Amino acid sequence: MTQEEFGDYGGRHVPEPLREPLEQLAEAYDEVSETDEFQTELRALLEEFAGRPTPIYHARNLSERYGAEIYLKREDLLHGGAHKINNVLGQGLLAKKAGRTRLIAETGAGQHGVATAMAGALLDLETEVYMGKKDVQRQEMNVFRMRLMGAEVNEVTRGGEGLADAVDAALEDFAENVDDTHYLVGSVVGPDPFPRMVRDFQSVIGEEAREQFIERTGELPDAAVACVGGGSNAIGLFHAFRDDDVAFYGAEGGGKGADTEKHAAPLAEGTDDVIHGMKTRVIDEDVEVHSVSAGLDYPGVGPEHAMYRAVGRCEYTGITDDEALAAFRELSEAEGIVPALESSHGVARALQLAEESDHETILVNLSGRGDKDMETAAEQFDLS
Ligand SMILES: *Cc1c(COP(=O)(O)O)cnc(C)c1O
Repeated sequence: MTQEEFGDYGGRHVPEPLREPLEQLAEAYDEVSETDEFQTELRALLEEFAGRPTPIYHARNLSERYGAEIYLKREDLLHGGAHKINNVLGQGLLAKKAGRTRLIAETGAGQHGVATAMAGALLDLETEVYMGKKDVQRQEMNVFRMRLMGAEVNEVTRGGEGLADAVDAALEDFAENVDDTHYLVGSVVGPDPFPRMVRDFQSVIGEEAREQFIERTGELPDAAVACVGGGSNAIGLFHAFRDDDVAFYGAEGGGKGADTEKHAAPLAEGTDDVIHGMKTRVIDEDVEVHSVSAGLDYPGVGPEHAMYRAVGRCEYTGITDDEALAAFRELSEAEGIVPALESSHGVARALQLAEESDHETILVNLSGRGDKDMETAAEQFDLS
């Protein structure tokens, strides 16, 4: 079985006990995912359960303000409120077809844990989510949501009690329980086959958007823009346009304004390293990872993005918390659409491009809705 290479990046940089489980998973993926039965069942779940296809929306008011035609791919309208459902349905169904009875997942703020709990309930798979103790305390409502849907939440008390520790705990569980367990990784990160598998499941975003854009305007967009945490919604949008004359832009967490000691921009500012089983771009250990949006708060990034950066296919830029919050507010007020704070980084980058570049049509992936971010936003703006 071949591992997909992303230039110098990717691979399976894992300890011995994980080699066999990953090999088995890669084989199961290559066998099952191509079958008509799998594709038909997955398409039905994406339609009936998740709410696909999502529309593209011409943001008329923003377009008029900024002098470029801005279109939003509305992943915020999906069940669960974000693109994460595309991935958990794909991997959940694969686990079921491969005879697994149990899903495990890592989660930081809880969004991926909640999505995994949805897939577990739908597909009748026992579900356990690893979550750092710090995150469990901060994200009570997401812990409650997961339990409501029947998932068990395992509090991780080692290390810094955060996302990276939850990943380690989930990897150990996976190595020990590979016969009945599927590790449902939350983004295009980790050892092969996860980056290519999650990309394939998220590619539905760009496949739909490409067709919709052509139908609507008769041509391709000049630019495609998305926020990048692990990088799954961005790769999901970009993949269908990879051989087209469409410029790609990724927006990372660029830190708190002038405070460049804290950011979450491994592509714009990181170095090559190995993390969580893959070679990729990583933020230096002495930099504290920070983003106002929990979904962008990860020190690594998917290896395919590292390759896109190396070959110049995509330009990656850090967007500061303040820039993202301004875009969050502007999209809400101009169009009546409240974006997730993660997605607001992509919107902010699109508004910069509308003002500063020659691009006349810009397609932005609105990866999720902002309901989960109301408390954070209310702390930032006084609207009284
Ligand atoms: C989780 C999340 C992200 C970040 O994940 P990617 O893998 O980079 O897409 C972005 N937007 C929203 C709304 C999310 O929930």
